[in-house]
Amino acid sequence: MPAPSDDKPKVLILGGTAEASALAERLVAAGEVTVITSLAGRTAEPVLPPGAVRIGGFGGAEGLAAYLRENGISRVIDATHPFARRISENAIRATAETGVPLEHLVRPGWQPVLGDRWHEVGSLEEAAGILPAGATVFLALGRQYLDAFAARLDCRFVIRMVDPPAQALPFADPVVILGKPSADPQQEAALLAAHGITHLVCRNSGGAAGYGKIAAARQLGLPVILIGR
Ligand code: NAP
Repeated sequence: MPAPSDDKPKVLILGGTAEASALAERLVAAGEVTVITSLAGRTAEPVLPPGAVRIGGFGGAEGLAAYLRENGISRVIDATHPFARRISENAIRATAETGVPLEHLVRPGWQPVLGDRWHEVGSLEEAAGILPAGATVFLALGRQYLDAFAARLDCRFVIRMVDPPAQALPFADPVVILGKPSADPQQEAALLAAHGITHLVCRNSGGAAGYGKIAAARQLGLPVILIGR
């Protein structure tokens, strides 16, 4: 889809996060620039931010560079998820090639507070390895991060996903919860308790939208296996 054309400078927000949507909202409200948010198209029914929206990959850094040129983009703001590394690398390369200025909205990671029982690990494999036998584990991870846990036949897995999985999950008897995380610790605590969760596994994504589960685990005294950046 071509970007909208008027005489205002065009800002491309690389999105897919709550922070990117909030930024689009602020820029559209200010009215000084034309805002285009780009989404990868991972979720079936994304909540669309205000302004123009384009959906789908660009075709690597070269594709993104071509998009910037063809659409006269004057600024790129990378507001993607901190674990979405490829698109951020592509943005660096494409803006270097085209000379379009790039800003990166970096979301700080969560910091432990009193009462947190965090085990910080460096990889999915390490997270899978430290789970005790017999654990009932809440995996707050996207589909592409689950395979590392498949060998843990001695644990039970409860998995939250936004959309139903397109392929069978790599577990014998997984419980799948469809939906987005809640920022409300009470709601998250009720969910963890209802499923008899003993361990939470997630990445240190930072941000308010995903923090509900961290606060909920603290409330319930549950250990959190936190995968670092
Ligand atoms: P990734 O590994 O960095 O990106 C893989 C490919 O997806 C990119 O090379 C690009 O394809 C396309 N892509 C990613 N973000 C895009 C965007 N905003 N607009 C257009 N194309 C995009 O990213 P990911 O981890 O798969 O995440 C995909 C999107 O989901 C990101 O936008 C991110 O903000 C959002 N998200 C990710 C997570 C997470 O845990 N990783 C969590 C919440 C939201 P081409 O090379 O073809 O351009």
